Amino acid sequence: MDNARTLLESLPLDLQSQVRQSVPLNSLTTLRVGGPAALLCRVSNPEQALRFQALALERQIPFFILGGGSNVLADDRGFQGLILHISTENLDRKGDTVRAGAGISLDDLIERTLDLGLTGLEFASGIPGTLGGALVGNAGCYGHEIGEFLVEALLLRPDGRLETVGPEEFGFRYRETDLRETGTVVLEAVLKLQRGDVDQAAGLRQEKILDRRTKHPVDVPSAGSWFRNLPAAEPGGRRRAAGVLLEQAGAKDMSEGDARVFAKHANMIINAGAATSTDVLKLAARMQSAVWEKFEVRLVKEVRYLEP
Ligand SMILES: Cc1cc2nc3c(=O)[nH]c(=O)nc-3n(C[C@H](O)[C@H](O)[C@H](O)COP(=O)(O)OP(=O)(O)OC[C@H]3O[C@@H](n4cnc5c(N)ncnc54)[C@H](O)[C@@H]3O)c2cc1C
Repeated sequence: MDNARTLLESLPLDLQSQVRQSVPLNSLTTLRVGGPAALLCRVSNPEQALRFQALALERQIPFFILGGGSNVLADDRGFQGLILHISTENLDRKGDTVRAGAGISLDDLIERTLDLGLTGLEFASGIPGTLGGALVGNAGCYGHEIGEFLVEALLLRPDGRLETVGPEEFGFRYRETDLRETGTVVLEAVLKLQRGDVDQAAGLRQEKILDRRTKHPVDVPSAGSWFRNLPAAEPGGRRRAAGVLLEQAGAKDMSEGDARVFAKHANMIINAGAATSTDVLKLAARMQSAVWEKFEVRLVKEVRYLEP
């Protein structure tokens, strides 16, 4: 973006301190892939979100909302616009509910709510990323989803309205909501938890973290499951794991440059060193074709691709 510097200089001082230029997206995404973002704006409160969004709209600069970057593939050419990096991290308890900033890491939120004597979220222990990212993608595992806990959320709509809404506005479904990729920013959320058995919940949390260590690329760059699981064969049944079809189609032996299919989970792409977005996209396309050729099933990607 040619006018990044001009834009930066034209900002009031309090906003300038929240903006960085030419920030490598590989440092902000868990797959560790991606070139520079022209501008990165740290959003620490709703007012900043409002002002940055107004700026992007007024100057007609494309913008992208980023949380923990654990479900995003950024392009090697970077992003010629403004990244709204959601960093609202407040946490307040009221009875058995908590009001939390959308930028809080989901795992910190789980730890801190347990410290407050509240249980419920421990099933999600070890899911990377922020509360905001989890809410717009309805993150889940082990039979539960984050959407089950939402009471209300503070949103910044694409037209600049701040609005408090209930869960019905999200339209929660499997790894999806009506808000993902609409330009709506989730700024805060109120979650209803329980005053349950904290020791038991903490035990479950450790169990889930250990389970993830054996199955997931916890210490290697990845973006989690690349493709969505498939709908259940019959109503009310369990979803069919995309990883099983991928494994049967031979995906575990596939690689493109340093982008490789994770040895323990055929639905996960890892960056073994210097993978590029081209490597990752080529590998994902090969995985998808292999499943199509063997089963005539078209896998749908779960990870968001941030184009330049
Ligand atoms: C090792 C590993 C394991 C994983 N396991 C699971 C799992 O078990 N279950 C699961 O569901 N996911 C899993 N994931 C995927 C990922 O962690 C989740 O999707 C996570 O909730 C994404 O949150 P994020 O903050 O990183 O979002 P990002 O990756 O930053 O963004 C994802 C999408 O959400 C949007 N977004 C982010 N924050 C906001 C906001 N505040 N307001 C509006 N839009 C926003 C972005 O624009 C983008 O479209 C895993 C990932 C990894 C790397």
